[in-house]
Amino acid sequence: MNILVTGGAGYIGSHTCVALLEAGHTVIVADNLCNSRVEVVDKIKQLTKKEVIFYQIDVTDIAAVSTIFSNHSIDGVIHFAGLKAVGESVEKPLAYYYNNLVSTMILAEACQNYGVRRFVLSSSATVYGDNTVPFVETMNLLPTTNPYGETKAMSERILNDIAKANPAFSVSLLRYFNPVGAHESGLIGEVPNGIPNNLMPYVTQVAKRKLEKLRIFGNEYPTVDGTGVRDYIHVMDLAEGHVAALDNLTEGVHIYNLGSGNGTSVIELVKAFEEANGIEIPYEIVERRPGDIASCYADASKADRELGWSAKRDVISMCRDSWRFENNKE
Ligand code: NAD
Ligand code: UDP
Repeated sequence: MNILVTGGAGYIGSHTCVALLEAGHTVIVADNLCNSRVEVVDKIKQLTKKEVIFYQIDVTDIAAVSTIFSNHSIDGVIHFAGLKAVGESVEKPLAYYYNNLVSTMILAEACQNYGVRRFVLSSSATVYGDNTVPFVETMNLLPTTNPYGETKAMSERILNDIAKANPAFSVSLLRYFNPVGAHESGLIGEVPNGIPNNLMPYVTQVAKRKLEKLRIFGNEYPTVDGTGVRDYIHVMDLAEGHVAALDNLTEGVHIYNLGSGNGTSVIELVKAFEEANGIEIPYEIVERRPGDIASCYADASKADRELGWSAKRDVISMCRDSWRFENNKE
């Protein structure tokens, strides 16, 4: 199939392009490079030895999006493009609502205009809010604490309503848990802007001695050791989940958790990193980070049952691959 991958030069998008190309699909990337570099597209080609069609466009630009749909016979869209920094979304809510919602609406409209029936959305476990773990797709969504999370819940609702009005439209809403790791080659991975907010990129920079020590946000949560529990998923497993979602997409709206189904605490992740890479990670315990919840992990059984997909790579591989990329990146 010819798949339009918006945000395909970004972290999850680039790994998904590799998985799509390896599965025999043709990939058209649309990315404005606001949080990525064009060299990533070359790395995808180098890794897969396949062509990638690249458009440097903003997917909120309706004319530019229409050009892609008229130049190519698109069979499906995977929509990754968006802004994703939770803290920044509180500072710049309008930029987040505009970018993340207008892009979804413009792409959905182009799908209607050009008869494209398959649409896969990057959603997030954040839409569950502080529900009881494990999170199941049937749960009522709870308000998130930030505009970023709201853009994901709203994008889901918009696509739900469009699919209701157009029964042939097939939508997969993929709720990601915590993507980490990098392609096993070390050629592509996550390149955070400035000081990382997320745990794994912070840990790799402490390992690299670019940062002095990890600050663990709270050790009195009701969890195994008091530190926050998350469901880390290797980005290549996540990428393969998209191929499975696309290949199994049928009419209507389908929601899937893409997680490993296992919870790992901050201290457990630090220990796994030390074990995987033989490097000590100094840390101190500091105040809780506002907006954090104690535990977030998936019931991942629906994706297994319906898509035949489950996460294969363990936390040790995630730590090893993250560290390899940290050492390889320019
Ligand atoms: P990323 O920033 O690495 O990738 C997003 C890409 O989209 C970037 O290459 C950026 O340049 C591009 N982009 C942004 N706005 C654009 C626009 N208007 N037009 C064209 N391109 C645009 O982020 P990521 O981690 O790969 O995340 C991909 C998607 O998954 C996002 O929608 C994000 O919200 C969602 N998600 C990410 C996580 C995570 O922890 N990384 C978790 C849950 C959901
Ligand atoms: N965390 C931490 N120190 C950091 C970054 C994160 O202790 O420098 C903790 C955070 O409180 C949470 C877990 O690590 O319990 C994962 O945080 P991340 O920001 O990676 O993901 P999210 O909170 O969005 O799930």
